[in-house]
Amino acid sequence: MSEVKRIAIIGAMDSEITNFKGMIENIEEIEIANITYYKGVLCGKNAVLLKSGIGKVNAAIATTIAIERFNVEKIIFTGVAGSGNPDYNIADIVISKNLIEHDFDTSDIDGDNITVLVEGYNDNYYPADKSLIELAKESAQKVITDNKVYIDTIATGDQFVGNNEKVKQIHKKFKAGDIEMEGASVAHTALMYKIPFVVIRSLSDKADSDAEVDYPKFVIQASDNSAKIVAEMIDNIN
Ligand code: SAH
Repeated sequence: MSEVKRIAIIGAMDSEITNFKGMIENIEEIEIANITYYKGVLCGKNAVLLKSGIGKVNAAIATTIAIERFNVEKIIFTGVAGSGNPDYNIADIVISKNLIEHDFDTSDIDGDNITVLVEGYNDNYYPADKSLIELAKESAQKVITDNKVYIDTIATGDQFVGNNEKVKQIHKKFKAGDIEMEGASVAHTALMYKIPFVVIRSLSDKADSDAEVDYPKFVIQASDNSAKIVAEMIDNIN
């Protein structure tokens, strides 16, 4: 394990990490299990940048390896998501208050008794780190002038949601501000290792029947929005 402590910056897709690649000084590329880890100095801080790939399994593997191999002390996830709340608009920002795996369901056997996934978090909502949330909020308010910034619940599952009924159901059941495919998995892993984390998402679509048109149109702009906030955070992080 490398001796210095590092901030891990994780995105699921190229568009979500590409802006950071050119910013890393003393960059070293290490490939482990099909994932490239970019180690170096980002805005004066020791960091490791990686693209996890899409979905919960990829995100959990990538986060575990980052923690085990790169002496990670904080985790910031940057990316795009579908809105879970009909009042939230494309390009708005959702910072994770907490995260839940919306497709994990043992109710047919358990009824209302929950199978706890991470010891100590009995409702299966994983709380993000309070000081990283605060830093994310301040950073977003500084660099995002045209869009709203929310601190809300993020619902994660192995599904792209582009369906009016489905998005309504997820919003109603989980009170989710946005819907994506990796955040709760990163959070789950980070909590098991007791490492502070936060997830920043800019909305690329509204997870409704227009999502298949909106997502390709807005994914780059939303990825850039989120990256801008994270760069500002790293500049100011202790
Ligand atoms: N083949 C597509 C797949 C995109 S999946 C591609 O490679 O671009 C969508 C990605 O953006 C996931 O990483 C997810 O976290 C996020 N996302 C954006 N909108 C979403 C939505 N409506 N439902 C679920 N995930 C969404």
